[in-house]
Amino acid sequence: MMSNKNQLNVKTSEDMTATELNIEADVVIIGSGAGGGISAYELAKAGKKVIILEAGPYVPSEKFTEMMAVSMATMYEGEGAQSNTDGDITVLQGRCVGGSTVVNAALCFRTPDYYLKKWGKEFGLTNLTPEVMLPYFEKVEKNLGITEVKPHETSSGAETIKKGLKALDIPLGLARRNIRDCAMTGFCFAGCKTDRKQSMMVTYLPWACNHGAEIYADTRVTKISAENGTAKGVNAEVIDPKTGVTKTRLSVKAPIVVLAAGPTGSPLLLQQSGLANSSGQVGKNFACHPSLSVTAIYEKKLNDFHGATHSLFDDRHTLPENGGWIQLNAVQDPVEASFMAEPGTGKPYVRYMQNYPNSTRLITLIHDKNVGEVTMENGYKEIRYQVDDEDFEAMKKGLKENARILFASGAKYLYLPTYDTQRINSVDEIDSVIDALENESARYRYTSFHPQGTCRMGTDKSKTVVNPYGETHDIKNLYVVDASLLPTSIGYNPSETVYALASYIADQINEANPG
Ligand SMILES: Cc1cc2nc3c(=O)[nH]c(=O)nc-3n(C[C@H](O)[C@H](O)[C@H](O)COP(=O)(O)OP(=O)(O)OC[C@H]3O[C@@H](n4cnc5c(N)ncnc54)[C@H](O)[C@@H]3O)c2cc1C
Repeated sequence: MMSNKNQLNVKTSEDMTATELNIEADVVIIGSGAGGGISAYELAKAGKKVIILEAGPYVPSEKFTEMMAVSMATMYEGEGAQSNTDGDITVLQGRCVGGSTVVNAALCFRTPDYYLKKWGKEFGLTNLTPEVMLPYFEKVEKNLGITEVKPHETSSGAETIKKGLKALDIPLGLARRNIRDCAMTGFCFAGCKTDRKQSMMVTYLPWACNHGAEIYADTRVTKISAENGTAKGVNAEVIDPKTGVTKTRLSVKAPIVVLAAGPTGSPLLLQQSGLANSSGQVGKNFACHPSLSVTAIYEKKLNDFHGATHSLFDDRHTLPENGGWIQLNAVQDPVEASFMAEPGTGKPYVRYMQNYPNSTRLITLIHDKNVGEVTMENGYKEIRYQVDDEDFEAMKKGLKENARILFASGAKYLYLPTYDTQRINSVDEIDSVIDALENESARYRYTSFHPQGTCRMGTDKSKTVVNPYGETHDIKNLYVVDASLLPTSIGYNPSETVYALASYIADQINEANPG
């Protein structure tokens, strides 16, 4: 299928000597994550000279530390501390060569037909039918080795939770992941040292490089330029990550610009460049799948450290009319586990962490309304987003189910992810404790792994930013291929949707620009 030479052609700030560098190419791609990686390969394979500019560093797999705090500081946006303006939702995104695909948990779902049909009806995306998208899902599944988790790959926590699902007669959803022969280290979020996770860094990016693509890491695009309504290229700065000093001012002149800076990066670049915003929608319609992780403590040690980060789910309620939440088990290392609940300080905290080997976690993730906005205020990124009241009610229903599953699996007691200590000590307490929760700001420890929606796709030029083929309505040959395209939140982990959409849009670009 692909060449065996899985070599990245990457330059970092260390390689830069000139203070100014001007490059010409057929395509410049901004960002090297899910959307950037897929489009880079598809466009380079079609014979185009592709330049990929990535703001984050190049961290080869052998340098992954398997220490969450270190990985967050080097490979995550905002050193892992990016949040909404209220500071109660951590919005996690990767920031390195390969983007979020390097640090994600690799759980993959096809876009449900429900949303493809909804987008057809409400956003005019009648081109993205389940039939049209099927070959794209099949293609990325084959290329990224997306297969169901094997029986030996599940973690001990998942096996325990399985008992709860069985006792409650809940059908078991088995995860599909872009992982070949999982080494079960449990360190997905810190990067897969063994290269078994099929991130962009070890798949599509080296494949693109085998077709001549070049990657510049440490390189932040500051402006996209256009003339007479047509894209012309970009300006960027190569910044030494150790000192923060700009080493090189880089410009790429290219007739095709592909924006893949992710759902916070892409709208900011369009806003800064003053482009593609005649609708006023750039940066709006931000959704992020807020999730809350309930910690369960058991009598016996589970040692839930190794195995698939996610191996099972319950998605009976995932569509909005069925409730709008999904449950996912999750292996979490001690650093993550320590901030997932409020056990207090001093002795209570020490007791909580001493119980870490006896604990596991079940995440409730909700489909949310696209109510947020990303802007730059006084030089700082602002993500204005609060959980909507109705969405909070969906979260409460999900949390109740979550708690029932955990007790049915043998949990002694549960910690809710609140900033004031909230324990549930028995099944009988579930309803009263959760019914009493109110949708208050800064009370819950939300994590978002899935920002989406800030440059949404559709036919109506006054309500959307990008047309059904991925090109911005306003600027010819300026395409968006990342998670900002999603017109609505999809309630399922979105990476496969981004892979498939990027693959589809790359085909559109190749068709519109043959030769
Ligand atoms: C910890 C974590 C766990 C996750 N787990 C899962 C999971 O199990 N399953 C799932 O489906 N999804 C998961 N996701 C989400 C999934 O990885 C993302 O939805 C997907 O990668 C989004 O693709 P993207 O192309 O929009 O952005 P990204 O993959 O985030 O790539 C964007 C890239 O653009 C770069 N960039 C930004 N601004 C600029 C600029 N100005 N100039 C140059 N480069 C720029 C960034 O540094 C980044 O590398 C997870 C995400 C995280 C962070």
